[in-house]
Amino acid sequence: MEIRQWRRAALAQLSAGESPKRDVEVLLAHVTGKSRSWLIAFDETVLTPEQLEQLSALVARRASGEPVAWLTGEREFWSLPLLVSRDTLIPRPDTELLVEVALAHLPQNGPTVLDLGTGTGAVALAIASERPDAQVTGVDCIAGAVGLAQNNAQRLALANVRFFQSDWFSAIGEARYTLIVSNPPYIDEADEHLCQGDVRFEPISALVAGDHGLADIKKISARAADYLLPGGWLMFEHGWQQAEQVRAILRSHHFVQVETCQDYGGNDRVTFAQLSE
Ligand code: GLN
Repeated sequence: MEIRQWRRAALAQLSAGESPKRDVEVLLAHVTGKSRSWLIAFDETVLTPEQLEQLSALVARRASGEPVAWLTGEREFWSLPLLVSRDTLIPRPDTELLVEVALAHLPQNGPTVLDLGTGTGAVALAIASERPDAQVTGVDCIAGAVGLAQNNAQRLALANVRFFQSDWFSAIGEARYTLIVSNPPYIDEADEHLCQGDVRFEPISALVAGDHGLADIKKISARAADYLLPGGWLMFEHGWQQAEQVRAILRSHHFVQVETCQDYGGNDRVTFAQLSE
């Protein structure tokens, strides 16, 4: 069967999904090892029986709702190819905003960064890749996530980042950082969005927090001052309706210069603040 025939059949099979066109291209690229532009240019190429067998198994799994990143084992974030696993959230494009805001607030000359709830390591790795002079630490309470983030650092040959297990600040000790960044769980457990699409498959511990999604943001904000250098920054990704509350939480812990930024969809997504000197 030619690529173009297979593509048409697979599209029909995945038409009820969220992004059938993209899914089909990503799966084709994964199985053939060819780029997406090659697959478009040479779509009269005949697929081998092994490729067809692999592809049909993957399409069946996608049709039952499994995230594409799990089928390929990878997701790109900040142009870095990252391994993903069932232990963590799949990195989202919106989270690149958190990286942008962090980079904009990192001073020159060897700053230190702590990424709380690092998951795949996405945010820590992106910052480390942009700032070789920074020392970046990523922590996660799930051992499997720590191992995954370490694998990602190794594959990307990033030497200025390290990962270890810690439940928020529990294993941080005496260290103090220039900047603390976190994409914590922030979804309200009653949010109906949790029963739709790809999030259904992701670990609930990475998504849901008590107190209408704010419990972890509160916990981190209450303790962050003990782990920041004077004038250090704390920043969170949060839900699009949580900005005002997150700003109030930060102010209540005596942070100053409290600001919110919008993601590419125009929704409030990142709030950050400075520890007063
Ligand atoms: N933005 C993610 C979603 O809506 C949630 C990420 C998180 O809870 N940290 O699926």
